Amino acid sequence: MLKYTNMGDLSEHFNHKDFICRCAVCKGKEFKIHLGLVGILEQVWEHFQKPIKVLQGFRCEEENEKEGKPQKSLHVLGKAVHVVIQDVSPPALIEYLRTLEDVRGIGFNVEDNSVHIDARRDVRVEWVREGKSRYVPLSPEKKQQYGLT
Ligand SMILES: [Zn+2]
Repeated sequence: MLKYTNMGDLSEHFNHKDFICRCAVCKGKEFKIHLGLVGILEQVWEHFQKPIKVLQGFRCEEENEKEGKPQKSLHVLGKAVHVVIQDVSPPALIEYLRTLEDVRGIGFNVEDNSVHIDARRDVRVEWVREGKSRYVPLSPEKKQQYGLT
């Protein structure tokens, strides 16, 4: 885990700016990012050979509270991202993520068609977020509903 105030690039394809908090309070001055997660994203990039856009990475505590998220959100710890990949559908991305051992949380965000990836330390969990904050397990029915099989 790294905590920086100022820095350059993190890896071949990622800059710290990809992960900073998007809120107007901290203005991205402070952030945390788990380098294991950056490593996972590099693997995903390598596999698809397509640019990955990070829609959300680190969330500062103020922003997290404002969004009404759990205090222990993995975003606050720098261990979670929401991404979209040009020309790669969420089902294709999710299928690949399942092959990566270090990926422990996989979520599909219906609202913006992005995929949540996290590097928590527990057993793998998969879910769908419907709307702003309705989390439902990724059951066979949900997979079918959103074409994620
Ligand atoms: Zn912030």
